[in-house]
Amino acid sequence: MRLISRLTLVTGGGSGIGRAVSQRLASEGASVVVADISEDSANETVGRLQSDLKGQSHMAAAVDVSSKESVKKLLTRIQTRYFQPPSVCVNSAGITQDDFLLNMEEEKFDRVIQVNLKGSFLVTQAVAQALVACGSPKGSIITLGSIVGKVGNLGQANYAASKAGVEGLTRTAAKELSRFGIRCNCVLPGFITTPMTDEVPEKVLVKMKSLVPLGRMGDPAEVADVCAFLASDDSRYITGTSIEVTGGLFMG
Ligand code: NAD
Repeated sequence: MRLISRLTLVTGGGSGIGRAVSQRLASEGASVVVADISEDSANETVGRLQSDLKGQSHMAAAVDVSSKESVKKLLTRIQTRYFQPPSVCVNSAGITQDDFLLNMEEEKFDRVIQVNLKGSFLVTQAVAQALVACGSPKGSIITLGSIVGKVGNLGQANYAASKAGVEGLTRTAAKELSRFGIRCNCVLPGFITTPMTDEVPEKVLVKMKSLVPLGRMGDPAEVADVCAFLASDDSRYITGTSIEVTGGLFMG
């Protein structure tokens, strides 16, 4: 119950980690705006959220995080409904479009950067601008990076670059926004069971699992636990950092 009366925004909330984060924030007492490029899946997430606390009210919204116009409309919609911007934002919207570097088409590289990196920038900027404009005393912005941004991965030059990028973005945002009481951190999952990893060939998953010291893939709820900690005041002295949630994969 660390997030009672807090308004939170989760992008990519229609699936996987974003859905688990939405559920966890709601169970901690927050009102959650579930935003996704698929409005149907955002609605489905909202339908599963706990909402029995006084004042708790959730909303589903369509957004394309790679479009400045779409992100702006989302923030306007939120402020029209709740009369305040979200003080917690979790950037979970993300895509993969894998191919080996030697074959990767420019369009695949651009699209992954647009959604994962530029999308995180646009949402972080819009939320921070709204929080600063209304004089909010505190905020917490959490961005899903990936362990792949640190160590690279076969077939993921675009994805690895985008995830390394969000760590640089987050550290810079943390430095610039700390004077407004806004903390910015990344969470770096390893291999988590979601629709995104459903696309990974079984033999690659078996190999990856054998490399994980804890011996299994992670559950989206285990990433959501860390996001809830970073959203809450329990992490009030933490900003500009990345927390790995990998079962020990590629430690050190
Ligand atoms: P997922 O595919 O289950 O969910 C991603 C969600 O983002 C989907 O609901 C999708 O509709 C939405 N989305 C895609 N493009 C969008 C856009 N332009 N605007 C708004 N929403 C958009 O994936 P997931 O596994 O839950 O991943 C969530 C985040 O965690 C991603 O940023 C991903 O890169 C990161 N991550 C996942 C893993 C993993 O193993 N699953 C590992 C490391 C990092």
